[in-house]
Amino acid sequence: MSYPSMIDSSGRTLGTEEVEAVTRVLQSGMLSAVWGREVRALEREMADLHGVSHAVACSSGTAALHLAVAAVAPDPGDEIITSPISDFGTVAPILAQNAVPVFADVDPDTGNLDPAAVAAAIGPRTRAILGVHLFGAPATGLREVADAAGLPLIEDCAQAWLTRYPDDRLAGTVGTIGCFSLQQWKHITCGDGGLTITDDAALARRMRLFADKGWPREGGVRRHESLGLNYRMTELAGAVARAQLTKLPGVLADRRRTARRLSAALADLPGVRVPADPDRHAWWLFPVVLDPPLTNHEVAAALARAGVPARAGYLDEPLHCAPALVDAPTYGGSRYPMTVPPADRLPTLGWGTRPNAERLITQTLLVIDWNERYTDTHVDQIARAVRAAVTG
Ligand SMILES: *Cc1c(COP(=O)(O)O)cnc(C)c1O
Repeated sequence: MSYPSMIDSSGRTLGTEEVEAVTRVLQSGMLSAVWGREVRALEREMADLHGVSHAVACSSGTAALHLAVAAVAPDPGDEIITSPISDFGTVAPILAQNAVPVFADVDPDTGNLDPAAVAAAIGPRTRAILGVHLFGAPATGLREVADAAGLPLIEDCAQAWLTRYPDDRLAGTVGTIGCFSLQQWKHITCGDGGLTITDDAALARRMRLFADKGWPREGGVRRHESLGLNYRMTELAGAVARAQLTKLPGVLADRRRTARRLSAALADLPGVRVPADPDRHAWWLFPVVLDPPLTNHEVAAALARAGVPARAGYLDEPLHCAPALVDAPTYGGSRYPMTVPPADRLPTLGWGTRPNAERLITQTLLVIDWNERYTDTHVDQIARAVRAAVTG
């Protein structure tokens, strides 16, 4: 049996609405959001969906995170605490703003930042906390830690469209800024694209300027108020993203329904743990945490033999072990800003420093591809394959 896939139309919700959207933009002759209406409308619709006052669109999830990091304005060498299990797009913007990523360890069951580890990592130069809702599970407890330390919280919601906290608030609305991705593999897509949301008008304005060369575009001025790049979303992408946004609730409902079915099917299986609270999880992937003596590589290999799209560990190495951070130069031949902190606060990097994250990647975490087009038949086959793989 073949599984719907994010890399072709079998596992995407792209249809006549998106074709109509692209056609509408092309026929208008205006492909740039500076003068067009689509991206502005997308921002309004995104803000309304989340019940916040501002949304700023940009060209990728990484760009969205870069807008957020630039907006909270670390001085060069300031520290931002983040997760060792994420896409590299979480970390690259910190380095690009000349700030130092500090990796706190994660919860061994969810892979989300452990709030106590985050609190312990806060130092005199900490400027923000950048939390990640891994695979769509809400990363809880971070707002409390941020508030106690007077720090802004940035939420990386790239895998967490319509994730809900235990108190029902939407991911992205609890922190100071929420960041989303519209890349090919996310819940909804326009190829590449990003969105940030916030209730803070000053931060929204800073993000908008950073995405457009620091150019306010008000009243026909041609002046540059602050450093900015060109991270603009095009009207073509914006129109597709608008059509996709209307399908998001359906995508989530379908992913949650089949995820509940798999969770129930695996509930009595010893050594196999699935996420709690399936109706608040966004199910970007279906993560499973295995207890020893089961290992993720063995179970993933058995699933691969059964034709189930699944992988061990999500990453080959956690981010605090990535060569880009451990020993590769950042700018020219220099490892700046990783070299800025004083000796007693130099970032500790490499294997052996974040045991929970490392164990998840190398031994306990298995991720099964998930999709809104999975049928009960797909789910039942996955359940049988997992059962066979873990009971040998
Ligand atoms: C995909 C992703 C990003 C980066 O988004 P892009 O659109 O690929 O730049 C950042 N963080 C997380 C958690 C992601 O899954």
